[in-house]
Amino acid sequence: IKRLFYSTATMPYNPQIGDPVTSLDTPSMIVDLDLMESNIKKLMGQLLPTGISIRPHLKTTKSALLAVKLVSAGAKGGCVAKLSEAEVITSLGFTDLLITCEIIGAQKVARLVELFRKVRSIRIVVDSEVGAKAINDALAGSGIDDPILTLIDLDVGLHRTGVQPGEPALELARFVRECKHLKLIGVQGYEGHLQHVHGREERKASCLESMAILTQTADALRQDGHDIQVVTTGGTGTAEFCVTVPGVTEVQPGSFLFMDTDYRNAVGSFYSNSLTILSTVISKQGPKCITIDAGLKSLTTDSGLAECKTLGYTYGVLGDEHGSLSWTEGPDLSIGDKVEMVPSHIDPTINLHDVYYAYRNGIIEEIWSVDSRGKVQ
Ligand code: PLP
Ligand code: MN
Repeated sequence: IKRLFYSTATMPYNPQIGDPVTSLDTPSMIVDLDLMESNIKKLMGQLLPTGISIRPHLKTTKSALLAVKLVSAGAKGGCVAKLSEAEVITSLGFTDLLITCEIIGAQKVARLVELFRKVRSIRIVVDSEVGAKAINDALAGSGIDDPILTLIDLDVGLHRTGVQPGEPALELARFVRECKHLKLIGVQGYEGHLQHVHGREERKASCLESMAILTQTADALRQDGHDIQVVTTGGTGTAEFCVTVPGVTEVQPGSFLFMDTDYRNAVGSFYSNSLTILSTVISKQGPKCITIDAGLKSLTTDSGLAECKTLGYTYGVLGDEHGSLSWTEGPDLSIGDKVEMVPSHIDPTINLHDVYYAYRNGIIEEIWSVDSRGKVQ
């Protein structure tokens, strides 16, 4: 990894490792290292003994450095959602990546070829003949002889992307076999609609149904002569079930590292909320109502409102830059006080910030960059 730590040396505001975390200006994204490391230990402890590969989804962290930390803890490579994320993360030296979204359109295909020219380990997914053909044709004209590692993306019930199981999947695999610049190595089937199903048993039962579709399709492709080595799936809410299914080879959890209130409400507190947004009380609007400096630009609201880490305070959105905290019981808050807000949806919240300040025992220990922030292409 080329750029390990975020540098503020040339900036007017220059917080340092060793500073108290409460001395940070706000809003700031802060990470409790003990909790984050315990989340990693819990995931690895639960999943690694099954022998299944863990390829964490870096759409959550958007950080090459955190990808390296996860690999040191036992992960095998990482996933990114988008091609532009892969461009950034590989440029920092982390190259074992699966891009989990389809790469469609002339500009993207051209960018993929250039990325592949530099990084042969990149893996892609396809769910259509037209998509596969465009990439194959572009590679054919590129002068690169190696084929790109390709997975069939399968719809296992999310109805977002993925070819339908059965005959459509077989037809697509046969088409890919004829594409000399694509090397079919596996199948991806992501059951995103199940990650937040409340109730462990219900989530497990639905997950096993999706896994049956995935592993049966993988077997059908093998019977049709394809060399299917990778069967990849799963997220924070389902990985523990996916790894019990014979035929699954890899899982892609992402949010477990930091969690959010939406995930905690659905799957419980096996993993801890290790990331918060440090905010400041900037105005008093009533006896038990104050305004903080974190609004829509600091905390996303698609999955409900963020929660104050100190129980008893209720958050409300007051626009782009502001939020309210109100309470009936609990200590008074004064102008200048700092509070920690727990995000409701971790991935898009991180994408709002440039930097992670990681602390232990109240002291900043590491500063990380959100490397692929804003990389949505
Ligand atoms: N795999 C794919 C294809 C995803 O889109 C996602 C998240 O949306 C994940 C894995 C990781 O899921 P989570 O962050 O819920 O662990
Ligand atoms: Mn998400």
